Amino acid sequence: LENEIGKLEKLKTVSELAASISHEVRNPLTVTKGFLQLLKDPDLTDEKKIGYIDIAVDALDQAESTITDYLTFAKPSLENIKLLDLHKELIYIENFIDPYAAMNNVQIEVHLQEDIYIAGEDQKLHQCLINVVKNGIESMPQGGKLLIELRRVVDNAMITVTDTGIGMDEEQLERLGSPFFTTKDIGTGLGTMVAYSIIKTMRGEVVVKSEIGKGTSFSILLPIAENSLSPAEDNLLGKLSSPS
Ligand code: ADP
Ligand code: MG
Repeated sequence: LENEIGKLEKLKTVSELAASISHEVRNPLTVTKGFLQLLKDPDLTDEKKIGYIDIAVDALDQAESTITDYLTFAKPSLENIKLLDLHKELIYIENFIDPYAAMNNVQIEVHLQEDIYIAGEDQKLHQCLINVVKNGIESMPQGGKLLIELRRVVDNAMITVTDTGIGMDEEQLERLGSPFFTTKDIGTGLGTMVAYSIIKTMRGEVVVKSEIGKGTSFSILLPIAENSLSPAEDNLLGKLSSPS
């Protein structure tokens, strides 16, 4: 009986996953299709055309990131590992998320130490951090402050993302990171799970602290890589060894 229940739950998980992915991918594809059709109009000004193309590309980016989330879930591995300058990577994240924060009345503040390097894959690190930072912003429907910190703690790099949002209770904290756990109307419940799986492949750890009505802090600890090569040298080596 236990086995049967196990199988049923697995089936449920697979169909839920399929449903949530097709929903998340279909919307942006519909948007893209619509704007491509609008582009056929011969009377469009160049300005309008560029606007339509931008919207279509944004929508495709969104579909792509949903698929990336799913693939990471299916295949958590690290390819193309490089020495990453976390100061630089976190500035990238800040710039990337800034428009989304502004849209949500969220002010971003950063406190970043320099010269902290880890070994990892930049795209996976970005995906992980964006998922965490997005959750922080989404926890503040009335706006608020998002603090991103980077510091060295013994042999670890510690990245902490703190929001002034709605917070989580014990039960929510407990379920955080399991697939399809979401409290949002249009959530997938994949973001945290994907973030955790990426952190695990980088031999890192996560500590989450939260208080209802006060906010949440999400700390990621990653083992520091000794910087024997300069980032420029490492970048070149990474290019040499990257698969075509
Ligand atoms: P989604 O964002 O699609 O809901 P996630 O896996 O990213 O999926 O997050 C799962 C759930 O965890 C969220 O729906 C929310 O309830 C909770 N959560 C995650 N991060 C935070 C946060 N910073 N503050 C409050 N709740 C959070
Ligand atoms: Mg999320």
